[in-house]
Amino acid sequence: MTTNPSPVWHPFTQHGLGDAIPLISHAKDAKLYDTDGQSWIDAISSWWVTTHGHAHPCIMAAIARQTEKLDQLIFAGWTHEPAESLAAELIRITPAPLTRVFFSDSGSTSVEVALKMALGYWYNIGEARSRILVLEHSYHGDTIGTMSVGERGVYNRAWQPLLFDVDTIPFPREGMEQATLDALDAACAQKPAAFIVEPLILGAGGMLIYPAWVLAEMRAICARHGVLLIADEVMTGWGRTGTRFACDQAGVIPDIVCLSKGLTGGSLPLAVTLCIEPVYEAHYSTDRAKTFYHSSSYTANPIACAAANANLQIWRDEPVQQRIDTLADAQAAHLSLLSHDPRVANPRRLGTIAALDIVVADSGYLSSLAPRLIAFHRDHGVLLRPLGNTVYVMPPYCITPDELAHVWDAIGASLEAI
Ligand SMILES: *Cc1c(COP(=O)(O)O)cnc(C)c1O
Repeated sequence: MTTNPSPVWHPFTQHGLGDAIPLISHAKDAKLYDTDGQSWIDAISSWWVTTHGHAHPCIMAAIARQTEKLDQLIFAGWTHEPAESLAAELIRITPAPLTRVFFSDSGSTSVEVALKMALGYWYNIGEARSRILVLEHSYHGDTIGTMSVGERGVYNRAWQPLLFDVDTIPFPREGMEQATLDALDAACAQKPAAFIVEPLILGAGGMLIYPAWVLAEMRAICARHGVLLIADEVMTGWGRTGTRFACDQAGVIPDIVCLSKGLTGGSLPLAVTLCIEPVYEAHYSTDRAKTFYHSSSYTANPIACAAANANLQIWRDEPVQQRIDTLADAQAAHLSLLSHDPRVANPRRLGTIAALDIVVADSGYLSSLAPRLIAFHRDHGVLLRPLGNTVYVMPPYCITPDELAHVWDAIGASLEAI
């Protein structure tokens, strides 16, 4: 039946549709190359991870140096310098109440850790709280636990029987923000363990943006009820939304924060979950039963930590914020040129992320739209991966004006062609 000769089973890929799968040999800055000399502009930062650009020399050199010293170390009861300096620096650049850093190796695991920390906190202090509040249209990962706290749909229907129950707060649609806040307030009164949110923008849910004041109100409501606020900054972190972290724009200090994706500049898998002292304190004891029982083999891998330290070095040494501001302005200008096109709805932008919806008449057409757009852009030298009818551009900060113009020209051309 199958015609694909490769044994590789790709993620989120329907091999039965027989779409071409380019073989990439190398990458530099905002571009991907194959051995035939073809190239593509990476307009989605290789799935939202590459911040400064591919193969940033500072990160590549840090990785090379680290490989000569220490490749891997058990992290239960042992430690190493790259992890210690990374943790110290993360604590330095985040708000003071966040005092502890737990390492893992993907965004999903950082969220699993956050949920386990929240429940562990309530369990260890002897209060029976285990429900999680979530925001409608959220995405927090693809493991069973993170799917449980994310939007239910075609992406997780087969595993529905395994997903745990959560209470869902409506997304704060424009003009309906108070309804969201009222629902959160009512749900918090039922004494849940935690509320998990993607701050300011819901990524995989369709680049849905909500205002900073709503996030600040959410923080206040959680605080009033003693409900732990978990900020999933896996996508929003490291400058994507215009500030280093999205919570910074809202003046919000969460109780638990998840970081991954851009943590290593997008070079190696690594994640951290930061928490406030009381969460750590609840697990701190001479009683072994209160231990935080979570680990994975590669927790705080030294080479990945070295890459993350290099990322932080780049933030200190290079004009990263200036690049972000420049890219944000350029994105705004390109978006405004398309925003009056009758085939375009809901043009929107937050920091470096720009998105629009393509107006589609019938829903049968909708399901085939994204794959056809992906193919169109692939044939025009651009890596884009629309979410349904939502086209978004989330490039590395080093993208040149010409490259960005090429991406937006391709989007304009796709409206004509598709
Ligand atoms: C990508 C993403 C995750 C999952 O991260 P992985 O590294 O893919 O496991 C979690 N939360 C958000 C908001 C994300 O965008």
